[in-house]
Amino acid sequence: MFSYRHAFHAGNHADVLKHTVLIATLKYLAEKDPALAVLDTHAGAGLYRLDGDYAETSGEAANGILKLLAAPEPGQPPFQPAPALQDYLDMVASFNKSGGKKVYPGSPFILQQLLRDHDRLKLFELHPTDSKTLSANIAQLEAGRQVAVFREDGFEGIRKFLPPPSRRALLLCDPSYEIKSDYSRVTEMIGNCLKLFATGTYAVWYPIIPRPEAHDLPRKLKTLATKAGKSWLHATLTVKFSKLTTDAAGEVKRPGLPASGMFLINPPHTLKAALKPALEQMVERLGQDKHATSTLDSGG
Ligand code: SAM
Repeated sequence: MFSYRHAFHAGNHADVLKHTVLIATLKYLAEKDPALAVLDTHAGAGLYRLDGDYAETSGEAANGILKLLAAPEPGQPPFQPAPALQDYLDMVASFNKSGGKKVYPGSPFILQQLLRDHDRLKLFELHPTDSKTLSANIAQLEAGRQVAVFREDGFEGIRKFLPPPSRRALLLCDPSYEIKSDYSRVTEMIGNCLKLFATGTYAVWYPIIPRPEAHDLPRKLKTLATKAGKSWLHATLTVKFSKLTTDAAGEVKRPGLPASGMFLINPPHTLKAALKPALEQMVERLGQDKHATSTLDSGG
């Protein structure tokens, strides 16, 4: 357990999808005045370097955010992002005020940036090093009681904050899925959340990989939403075909993450229309082969 470090993956295509959806969702929720409780069950370290060892070793940001930020090829027109994608790029740019591409904000900092004074943010991170880094990063904001970091199991820890006093909440659940039980813990937690506070907005990120638990997760979340009579939205982004290869030594090599999805319960009613052009552009800009595609479904 705990070999996962988000620093290797920060700014990859999955973060582009997840953080674009997150920003569009929170921006919409923040349009209404009553306070929001924002919960991040798996927060990570909060801030990442795009020019550091982790990002350079994995090369994942190079195939994600850095592709969106790349200057146009000679003779090509400048990239004109759809509004939801532009909001995401503006968010990343706000952490790189001198114009570079060095810092990548994780979900805690993206969420914090969009809070109003009366909103509250609760962050959960279990990894000993990352939770320490997260606490140190958050301390620099001097946000006082507005942001709280817990070195606790996020699946369990959020229960004490639901229902929130203001009766408005956004929860992001973004586990590493390092252990198989994460999949069942996600559905169990969302089922409990809907019992504790049925009108919250719940957003779950998951990897699309060839394993039955990953395949079943969105189906199970859809069933939970439908049984509770709640609306849902499901967005996926595929950047390449998932193919196992064998190296010279005969070792089977897994490809990097080919695709991922975001499943939301009680999404903003504006989200589907906002995401459609943004997803199309993600496919165009981040797609690595002819299998690149996106899907966008909703119901309820
Ligand atoms: N949400 C972050 C973002 O978008 O920037 C990335 C989070 S990363 C995918 C998942 C994190 O969950 C890792 O930092 C891992 O250490 C942490 N983690 C794993 N199990 C946990 C648990 N049960 N409760 C809280 N954090 C956990």
